[in-house]
Amino acid sequence: MTRVFNFSAGPAALPTEVLEEARDQLLDYQCRGLSVMEMSHRSKEFIAIAEQAEADLRELLAVPDGYHVLFMQGGATLQFAAVPLNLLGEKSSADYVHTGSWASKAIAEARRFCEVRIIASSESENFSYVPEPDSWERSADAAYLHVTGNETIGGVEFHQYPDTGSIPLVADLSSTLLSRPIDVSQFGVIYSGAQKNIGPAGITVVLVREDLVGKPAAATPSMLDYAVQAKSGSMHNTPPTYSWYIAGLVFKWLKAQGGLEVMAERNRSKSSRLYSVVDASNFYRCPVRPADRSWMNVPFTLADPELDGRFVEQAKESGLLNLKGHRSVGGMRASLYNAVPEQAVTALIDFMQAFEADHA
Ligand code: PMP
Repeated sequence: MTRVFNFSAGPAALPTEVLEEARDQLLDYQCRGLSVMEMSHRSKEFIAIAEQAEADLRELLAVPDGYHVLFMQGGATLQFAAVPLNLLGEKSSADYVHTGSWASKAIAEARRFCEVRIIASSESENFSYVPEPDSWERSADAAYLHVTGNETIGGVEFHQYPDTGSIPLVADLSSTLLSRPIDVSQFGVIYSGAQKNIGPAGITVVLVREDLVGKPAAATPSMLDYAVQAKSGSMHNTPPTYSWYIAGLVFKWLKAQGGLEVMAERNRSKSSRLYSVVDASNFYRCPVRPADRSWMNVPFTLADPELDGRFVEQAKESGLLNLKGHRSVGGMRASLYNAVPEQAVTALIDFMQAFEADHA
């Protein structure tokens, strides 16, 4: 069996070592005679798995005291609602920075619950950059300020975050969490669906500052109430136990790789090699401003869009999968999450240069 190089934006490549460990434990977890999938979430075996995963995640991200780490459900999309429900309190509006497709979805959902003020937007430039924090027209009375740390479709990433003072900074880090170290203390809330750098779909990591929980809007479903989830150890109901377990294996793998400094160096290197090839050619083009280019999702177009289909087809024949850009923007997109090795990028670059030589 050969494993392909998988450039999917999500659900995305998982480390082969993690899948091998899961395979070895599939039928019989640590001589218990059953699979993790078949265990009660209240069993001492599963509680140990869950607690270890949380401890490893806290260690990887150097989460300071005073933060809850929650394993929720419903993906980042349900957090688009959970954030206003939990954070509005007495306030009636929140500030949003509009950087593309995912910010737009967060904004649309928040509008169901509050007044959304778009304090900065790169829409007029086709979402090709992150608006400078100095230019944000911030409100003094916002309940929170929301950013999308990495636009998975547009390939635009915040490489640093501003100090938002007393207004909590909330970040959708779905496609960048664990790709590099971050200073968690800068954020009031961080949320991320799992299916990029964390594990399989079905679980959602939420980090929330403890002082921000406990004042949910009146009709907040208990499943979305951060305080309820924190109190129950993210087990208010049956959690997605298998996704949680695999996420735990990914955290262990990340620690064995040397942690997030090492991942950052690899991710910076992988993406910069690919951007250099794109920038050096007249055949490929990346629309994103260089300073704001994502380390995780590299979008590029071909000189002739008529060649898109052939590019994707021939790449697939060469074992390079899922390079087609999102249907909303077209072109190509190579997602280079933690589990995508340097060799995958080398193989992609070789393929791109050969394709260019044949078609330019
Ligand atoms: N935000 C971002 C930045 C994403 O990339 C995605 C998924 N691709 C989402 C939100 C939605 O995540 P989910 O499918 O987990 O709800």
